[in-house]
Amino acid sequence: MGVLVDLQNLLNNIYDELYERIGTGAVADYIPELAKVDKNQFGISVATTDGQVFSVGDATTAFSIQSISKVFTLTLALGRYGNSVWKRVGREPSGSSFNSIVQLEFEKGRPRNPFINAGAIVISDLILSGHQPREAIGEILDFMRYLAQDESIIVDHDVAKSEMRTGHRNLALASFMKSFANLDHDAAHVLGVYFHQCAIAMSCEQLASAGLFLADGGRNKALGLRVVSAERARRINALMMMCGHYDASGDFAYRVGMPGKSGVGGGILAIAPEKASIAVWSPGLDGFGNSVLGTAALELLAHRTGWSVFGA
Ligand code: GLU
Repeated sequence: MGVLVDLQNLLNNIYDELYERIGTGAVADYIPELAKVDKNQFGISVATTDGQVFSVGDATTAFSIQSISKVFTLTLALGRYGNSVWKRVGREPSGSSFNSIVQLEFEKGRPRNPFINAGAIVISDLILSGHQPREAIGEILDFMRYLAQDESIIVDHDVAKSEMRTGHRNLALASFMKSFANLDHDAAHVLGVYFHQCAIAMSCEQLASAGLFLADGGRNKALGLRVVSAERARRINALMMMCGHYDASGDFAYRVGMPGKSGVGGGILAIAPEKASIAVWSPGLDGFGNSVLGTAALELLAHRTGWSVFGA
């Protein structure tokens, strides 16, 4: 009995309590392929640092991870370039929407942080160095498969194409940064990498496993190895806490109190340091582009487990 059974019960209860609200919020229709997703879906998965996985609802259905990919590309870029990454991108919350362009002009093409679109595009530019776009995309996908220990994870090419056709604002952001010499490669190539990383499709169970190293001081016990140093894991968590939900990051910290990263596919990865990696998914979004039900589920989970980093 004890903790493990309680955690499964807890997830079941949260699912039941929120069941009536499944379908609230709006799907991200600015990406036509995401507009087709049935919003009546809801899943939660919790991977604990002692190697257990607990799930409820649509936890094995793959969804577009979108901006959650930015946590993993940052991890890759830090691994390759270390602290020099911070010459190209800042570490401050933006207080602006995910695709805002205004701040970039004032700050001379150096994005506020790696989790807004402009910052993530710079990170994709770094990962592209020394590679063809196809190789860079392969490297990111391999990293996700490796962390989740699941070779079946794929890029949804229809979603990637959909964004390539309609991502005019991201092209504007990339071109704008290029004008400030903060992009080494061709904007179209960098966006090719960026759109494909966003189009990686994963389930809550896969995502929770992939995020486990951030909950366990940089280690992944299932893999039997260290992914990043404890210091780096702590710092990535700090960035997720401050910047992971765009201009609603403060509200997420207030309600949930865990480092988290959302994506417009309706997923959220949240980290309870030393305890668990949690992935929630429900496609209906609020006005800030964050999953309505996903946030509500994490709020209940944090409250009932005492997993907020700010105390119970
Ligand atoms: N691919 C999306 C975009 O660039 C990511 C946004 C998000 O998930 O927040 O618009």
